[in-house]
This record gives sequence, C-alpha cells and structure tokens, in this order.
Amino acid sequence: MKDTFGRTITYLRVSVTDRCDFRCTYCMAEDMTFLPRQEILSFEEMERICEAFINRGVTKIRLTGGEPLVRRGIIDFIEQLSKNLQTGRLKELTLTTNGSQLPKYADRLAELGMKRINVSLDTLDPERFTEITRFGKLEQVLEGLEAAKQAGLKVKINTVALKGQTDHELDELLNFVADHGFDLTFIETMPLGEIGGSRVDHYLPLTEVRSRIAERWTITDTDYATGGPARFVDVKETGNRIGFITPLSHGFCESCNRMRLTCKGTLYMCLGQDGNVDLREVVRSSESNEPLQHAIDTALNLKPKGHEFVIDETQDGPALNRHMSVTGG
Ligand code: SAM
Ligand code: SF4
Repeated sequence: MKDTFGRTITYLRVSVTDRCDFRCTYCMAEDMTFLPRQEILSFEEMERICEAFINRGVTKIRLTGGEPLVRRGIIDFIEQLSKNLQTGRLKELTLTTNGSQLPKYADRLAELGMKRINVSLDTLDPERFTEITRFGKLEQVLEGLEAAKQAGLKVKINTVALKGQTDHELDELLNFVADHGFDLTFIETMPLGEIGGSRVDHYLPLTEVRSRIAERWTITDTDYATGGPARFVDVKETGNRIGFITPLSHGFCESCNRMRLTCKGTLYMCLGQDGNVDLREVVRSSESNEPLQHAIDTALNLKPKGHEFVIDETQDGPALNRHMSVTGG
C-alpha cells in the first residue's frame, strides 16, 4: 500500500472503544459522553477491516482506545487477530493500555503472542496519579506492570509531559524504568478534543524535559528510529533509551507508515488532520470485500503530506474536535 507521497503503509492503529475506566485530565472531560453502542464497530466488523488491511500489507496492528482492555470480549478479539501472527501475515500485534487491567490479562496477552506493550504512566506519586487520572489507582497499575514483567512482556512506559506534574519527577521516572528494565517515552500534550479546561496551563515542551534530564544524566542522541514520531537518546548511567514524541513538530511526517481506525469505523490518515473515510458504512452495507478495498484505496490517495496543529495562548481550544480516546493515541 503506497500513498501518493510514496510512503508504504504497514501499520494500523485500532481504537477498540472510546470508553475508559480513567478520565485523564489532558484526554477527557470528567463528564464525558461516550458513543452509543450501535455507533461502535462490533468486533466482527473490526476483524473484517483488520483482515482487509492485512491482505493489503499491514504487518503491525496496535490496539488502543479509550482503554482497550475494558471492552467486553477484547481477549477473544485479540485471539482472532493473533492467528495472523501464527501464519506470519502479521509481524506484530500490540496494545497501548493504562495498565489497570494488566493484573488480570498480562499472562493471556503473552500467551496470545504479544511481545511488547505500551503502558501509560504519568507519575509515581499515588495522590498525583489519582489527580491526573481522576479515577485511577497507582497501586493497581504498578501491580499490572509487575504482572506484565512476570509474563515476559517487554514494556514501554508512555509519560505525558505536564507542567507542574511530570517535571517534578524526572529522576524518579528514569530510575524506575531502569530498575524494571522498561523503556520510557515522553509525549507532548496534543490539542485533541474538548477536555473541559485549559491545556495551555499544563503544556510542557519536551525540549524543556530534555534539558532538565541533561542537567543530571548523561544523554546522547541515537539514530534509533521506529518509523514513528519519537526521537531517542541513550542514557549512560542506566544503559537504557528514552524517547521523546513531539507530535506538534513536523519532522516525522515524511516517514509516516500508519493509519488509524476509530471505534466508529472512521479511518483517519493522519492524527493531526480531519481527512477521513467511513469504513463502518462500507462494512455494514455490503458483505463483499470489494467496496472495502475500494475505500482503502480512496484513503491512501487522501493521506496528507503532514499535519498542522498548534497549542498557544491565543488558541486555547482543541485544534481538532475529536478526542484522543476516539482516534487512539
Ligand atoms: N487508555 C490507554 C492509555 O492511556 O494508554 C490507551 C489510549 S490513550 C488515548 C493513548 C495515549 O495517548 C496515552 O499514552 C495517553 O497518555 C495519550 N494521550 C491522551 N490524550 C492526549 C493528549 N491530549 N496529548 C498527548 N497525549 C495524549
Ligand atoms: Fe483513558 Fe488512556 Fe485517555 Fe487516560 S489517556 S483517559 S487512560 S484513554
């Protein structure tokens, strides 16, 4: 699958639900209204779409949300998709989770062929954790991380950089990931979806995170790359790697290899642009896979060169109206 700029699409992110057991302040409003059930793709519909992408050359699928592990039936869905790992049609099946359900599911995920997962964790302070996630309990996530480790899953921690929050804890976070053998990536906040408050207050540029880390740790740039927006440094003292995802910068668009399917079946070609193709209508209106393939071709032709969003004092509202929990991170 090549788009009009010559980029090959091999990576599909699938948001399996917009629902979540947390309400992180930068992601959702406290009184979020979730989508009615009939608007959400059934797992059968999602599987059909994933298969269509695999047939066209997608080799990596990441499940996300909302919280993917809170949707009923998720493990059966993963089991279905994992059959493609056994046949070698998929190289990687993975997920991004808040970790709350990992005590229950980590073993099963490993059995189904998952090798590594991303777990979001913004703070190691229990009170601050509940403040940021509104409903989350740090203890449960730490237990989940331990379960993932015991199950042999490789873990990457995603930490959203938040002024007045993340910046107090950089050393703790670096030591924590080093002690547990986890990778760590910092993410800059993105202006996606109304959150019932301001994002400017908590916006912390990653250049600042990086220079604070550099004051106390020996970091050097590496050319390690994943095809995504992260830039990496090696940390001499711990021997591990830290990533920085700055989606507001444009540097990575030329190597973008991904598309995003929302839980409603909308296919977005770019996290930062509104261009999309409705695949739900296509799968619901025909049993044949031909219209689906045709819709994927349309999407390929529409994939934009790059995105254009911005957070600044004059533009405090969301740059795009959809929440990260609908599109998936
Ligand atoms: N619930 C799962 C989780 O928290 O990992 C998966 C979905 S969540 C939307 C995926 C990632 O997006 C998380 O790492 C989260 O911190 C991040 N995220 C959510 N809203 C964001 C925003 N406005 N800006 C930057 N990152 C955001
Ligand atoms: Fe839920 Fe993840 Fe959004 Fe937090 S970031 S509210 S855990 S979807």
